[in-house]
Amino acid sequence: MKWIGLIGGMSWESSAEYYRFINQLVRDARGGLHSAPIILASVDFAQIEAYQHNGDWDSAGKLLAQVAQRLVAAGAECIVLCTNTMHKVSAAITADLPVPFIHIADATAERIVAADISTVALLGTRYTMEQDFYKGRLEAHYGLTVLVPEAAERTEVNRIIYDELCMGVIDPHSRATYQTIMANLVARGAQAVILGCTEITLLVSHADVTVPVFDTTRIHAEAAVAYALAAPTTTQTS
Ligand code: GLU
Repeated sequence: MKWIGLIGGMSWESSAEYYRFINQLVRDARGGLHSAPIILASVDFAQIEAYQHNGDWDSAGKLLAQVAQRLVAAGAECIVLCTNTMHKVSAAITADLPVPFIHIADATAERIVAADISTVALLGTRYTMEQDFYKGRLEAHYGLTVLVPEAAERTEVNRIIYDELCMGVIDPHSRATYQTIMANLVARGAQAVILGCTEITLLVSHADVTVPVFDTTRIHAEAAVAYALAAPTTTQTS
């Protein structure tokens, strides 16, 4: 297997899910005591959130590009950025990257297209729901129609991510809020819902909505494992 390089900490609550999902997938695939070759670099999310808040995406991109290079120097053979939002700076990260970058939106969109779904709802941070780097990629590269919640709903979806999920708070009232918002999106024509923030998997599952759910954390982990398993063995021989 190839070594998987994870850029985590955004937040660490979801990075822990990546670690668990990836290891479970490798155990399922290889059996016995097999687990995943992973190198994790975990950043201080307070610093990243401050860059987001100030719109200083250049500094965030520089920092995450350095972290990616650090992972490569440590032996990572692919890079997995464990947050949807920070894919906004993926160009900075990939500019000088000598190993593949497994893009979370591409991995997710490929699944949606394969399921023959064309109109999809997107839940995530306000950056992910409102800016073009994510929605625009789904629309331009994959021909999807992307619906997002109404303004007041977006504010609440975003608040629950930063004030609760990233802090390890799982509140049934917030789950009910997400259920209502997802039902509204289905009523507007969504054939599926993208859990487009890597913490939402902690709160919401397929049981909370009547249409299929595309969980970006799980899909991204699966894409990383598929890459690492398919690639020829180099640094680990067993
Ligand atoms: N993990 C989240 C995401 O997938 C939000 C935290 C962040 O701003 O990176 O977008």
